[in-house]
Amino acid sequence: MTHPSTERTLVIIKPDGIQRGLAGEIISRFEKVGLKLVASKMLIPEVSHIEEHYTLDPEWRRITGEKTIEGYKSKGLTPPMDDPYKITEVILANLKKYMTSGPVIAMVWQGAHAVKIVRKLVGGTEPLTSDVGTIRGDYVLDSYAMSDADSRAIRNLIHASGNLADAEKEVNHWFKPEEVMNYRLVQEEIIYDVNLDGILE
Ligand code: ADP
Ligand code: MG
Repeated sequence: MTHPSTERTLVIIKPDGIQRGLAGEIISRFEKVGLKLVASKMLIPEVSHIEEHYTLDPEWRRITGEKTIEGYKSKGLTPPMDDPYKITEVILANLKKYMTSGPVIAMVWQGAHAVKIVRKLVGGTEPLTSDVGTIRGDYVLDSYAMSDADSRAIRNLIHASGNLADAEKEVNHWFKPEEVMNYRLVQEEIIYDVNLDGILE
């Protein structure tokens, strides 16, 4: 069995994250929790690359459509459409515009429970209801109702892989194997070492 510390997840600082000067803050949160940055690059994504990215998971259209409908209903609002697949057609078209509108920073972060820890720090998809203390909750005021009324994607600063299977596919979609670094970070001795016997002189 591989050690949990080898888990990897894909994070993208979206164009609004770069434009709002939050790249450093976002990176800092992942550093501070103890994760290791093992790959990073800045690029302006191609439209086809974004469509492929969001459809790597064949269930993404259904899950995201259902989540949007639930987001409306939980606030006593009526969703713009009842069919989750029709909703995600629109979301995907808007996402292609959003994610190709300027440079993004794609990164791979590694460490124990990387996928879940990153999702926890990032917060829920809709900033209106993302928890306080999460990146989306602290730095964004967008909502489904506002983005849908304006026919655009929710601007929520970050993409983060949703589960381990997606993370593996997404890392391969954004990075060549040689672009992902294998190296030791000094602080890993403190985070993972069983005995902590290297501290005292
Ligand atoms: P997450 O990024 O939290 O994993 P999803 O995978 O469900 O969320 O959706 C991908 C992205 O699509 C979101 O981060 C957001 O930018 C956008 N998005 C999702 N649902 C909507 C919606 N109902 N209206 C506008 N944009 C949306
Ligand atoms: Mg997602």
